[in-house]
Amino acid sequence: MQVEGSVPATSSVQENLVHLCQRVYQELSGASVVPLVSVEFRPYRSSLAVASRRAQALQVRLAEVFRQAPPRVVEAVLYVVLGKLLKRPVSPAYRKQYLAFLRTLEPAGMRTHSSTVRPHQVRWKGRWFDLRALFDELNRRFFDGRLPKPWLGWSRWPLRSHWGRYDPVRHAIILNSRLDRPDVPRLVVEYVLFHEMLHIALPTQTLGHRCDVHNSAFRAFERKFPAADRARQLLASLGP
Ligand SMILES: [Zn+2]
Repeated sequence: MQVEGSVPATSSVQENLVHLCQRVYQELSGASVVPLVSVEFRPYRSSLAVASRRAQALQVRLAEVFRQAPPRVVEAVLYVVLGKLLKRPVSPAYRKQYLAFLRTLEPAGMRTHSSTVRPHQVRWKGRWFDLRALFDELNRRFFDGRLPKPWLGWSRWPLRSHWGRYDPVRHAIILNSRLDRPDVPRLVVEYVLFHEMLHIALPTQTLGHRCDVHNSAFRAFERKFPAADRARQLLASLGP
């Protein structure tokens, strides 16, 4: 899988973003000193937005999808990530705004972003399994209902390469349509979907399905899924 480096935001956008970051940071932290801020957009990321602090500098990285987002959405995202960084409560309205924006990201509107998931390769409705209902149920069971809902769909054609994939750029989970069949146990579909949901819950610095994204924290959380071994056996029996 291709991994691209970060690209700096264009200068005027950059300047506005820096000021916005400084304002939100100061409001949340109560600090009188204006922090040094760098903001960049990244074409490919496992997380959509992240903020970190190194010495006196504040670094904010946003996924490309936010480049065209309305200013109020960008502001909401900054409140969410800086609130998390500073461990300060922020108004639920910001999180709502951020999630509402994610829901507007229809695949057809994002064709400018190259990615592993291409809209014409996806069917959003399954024949046997309703991924949205399964997502809601797994979200309640394992994530306190807190995971932001991604786009959910089935590959248009059966795949040989993988059972499922989370695409962080489109915030989309695509499952292999080989699993959307009446002879596939629901447990198997749940397990694959749960695995991809973990990629949303536990973002890492790396991308896609390289082995280092399945680190020990990931595996530990994955063990919370009951009958994971049984699900893996069943998957193996479905063949390569
Ligand atoms: Zn994975």
